[in-house]
Amino acid sequence: MYVVNTSKDPSLGWTDFAQKLAAKSNRHFSDEELSLIKNAFEYASSAHEGQRRFSGEPYINHVADVAVDAASLELDAKTISAALLHDTVEDNVATMHDIKKKFGDEVAFLVKGVTKVDKLKYHGVERAAESMRRMFLAVAEDIRVVVLKLVDRLNNMKTLYALPQPEKQKRIASETLEIYAPLADRLGMGEIKNELEDLSFYYVYSKEYEWIKKEVDAKIPEREKYIKKIIPIVKKELGREKIRPIEIAARAKHYYSTWRKLLRYDMNWEKILDLVALRIIVANVEDCYAVLGAIHKLWRPMPGRIKDYIALPKPNGYQSLHTTVFCLDGQPTEFQIRTENMHREAEYGIAAHWFWDETGKSKTGAEFVGQKFSWVKQLQSWQKEFGKGESSEEFLESLKIDFFRDRIFVLTPKGDVVDLPEGSTPIDFAYHIHSEIGSRAFGAKINSKMSPLSAKLASGDVVEIITKKNKKPSSEWLNFVKTSQARNKIKHALGITQPSQKIDENAVELDIVVKNRVGVLKDITGALALFKINIDGVSSAADGNEFPLITVKFRVKNREQLERVKTRLKKIKGVQSVADKTKP
Ligand code: MN
Repeated sequence: MYVVNTSKDPSLGWTDFAQKLAAKSNRHFSDEELSLIKNAFEYASSAHEGQRRFSGEPYINHVADVAVDAASLELDAKTISAALLHDTVEDNVATMHDIKKKFGDEVAFLVKGVTKVDKLKYHGVERAAESMRRMFLAVAEDIRVVVLKLVDRLNNMKTLYALPQPEKQKRIASETLEIYAPLADRLGMGEIKNELEDLSFYYVYSKEYEWIKKEVDAKIPEREKYIKKIIPIVKKELGREKIRPIEIAARAKHYYSTWRKLLRYDMNWEKILDLVALRIIVANVEDCYAVLGAIHKLWRPMPGRIKDYIALPKPNGYQSLHTTVFCLDGQPTEFQIRTENMHREAEYGIAAHWFWDETGKSKTGAEFVGQKFSWVKQLQSWQKEFGKGESSEEFLESLKIDFFRDRIFVLTPKGDVVDLPEGSTPIDFAYHIHSEIGSRAFGAKINSKMSPLSAKLASGDVVEIITKKNKKPSSEWLNFVKTSQARNKIKHALGITQPSQKIDENAVELDIVVKNRVGVLKDITGALALFKINIDGVSSAADGNEFPLITVKFRVKNREQLERVKTRLKKIKGVQSVADKTKP
């Protein structure tokens, strides 16, 4: 993404860059390390000489920003050097061979991992798929590759406004929303994830973004005022219990996650109980539970809303205690309680592990990552297993579903955590454990209760699979399994080898033209909720248009239900037409 320099704005020089770097990193770089970074800076400066970004900035400023962001995650000198060099090969101003010779194998490996595949050899979706494949192969070997990639993407998102083609903006933003933000999430890097989501949200669902922003910005000041009234009460009670909090602060929910939650709750704002939550950081785990007790002494907890992510961390490592209580004036209010370490991990995820650690490098390799994030290993073997005959579209599609959709975590009877996409069933669980267990599955117990093999699992469920010898998979399972891992294995066992059909036969995409009015989107999602339909996606494609087009993606039970849904939608005030975009 660059144009040729025509103006005379000065490019960033080494002295300024070195200063920025020192300001952002807590690491102390040796002379040797500094000279490596300096060489990389100088190499990149001359490689990108004359290039500008669409924003008009000299190109070197982009790679320098990425390097500084990497430094603020406490990454080491080699990774910072790779950040500086990360676009030189892609733009064909340098070769891998050259980088290797000048900067060594390790830097070259990192650069290669983040470089997109050749523009001339691959195009469009194929190029995206191939770049993903390459990145994931590198990730399993060294997690720094993906951290660099995320930092690079974040920087690109921040300057996306300057890209002149709206179509391209939208494509890059959707890719960010569907792959990079979930990837950051799975690495526990909450801060980057939130930033990526909110930046993409604006381009992918602009109408909804504007709406949410307006609503949230109107609601937040009042909520913050309310929370500020609570803080002294909490402090007093904690003082009585002799607990010394390190920090008590309000945190506002981000736009995109607010919107996602609204979609799940029929656009009902009343259900969003954590729009502003109170976050309490304490010294140790005992204090976390003591704070929880103190809060429950003050206010009555809401049933079913106490979540102990300390005893049972999320698969991405997230730890915290959450509770919602009927607070002042009976208002439901969420509290999040954690230690400083947990907090750092929630914001920086994988990066928190080398945060204060001088031996950062040893913690980035395959073994550590595999222990910490078993899904990285899964991802690699899944990728190998994924049929070579499948198209790039299918590869990317399954990647999004199997790895990056909303996740749940369930437990084996022994207490091992298994990480699955939302909507998974005991069959998905069984195949995840072992293909033999999947194929021989005969029944399932969820929380010790016999349950159908098609039951939808929820986080925290303990799942036990009952197997029977000589049992064979049933083709009916294909109607409800969620993961492509299970799907492929069932098909294989049944001897179904024809090219796979669209992943979900009941997936529907409707184009709805509406006369623009406040609340029309809510009415549409509300109508779908009446049929107990979960919406997979909503987008609207017109800015300030009197008759915007709203596209809704969801799944139906059968065609009959679809017809009824369509009839119902047509009755909504302002709806002009409802067209089925789904291919037969
Ligand atoms: Mn870049």
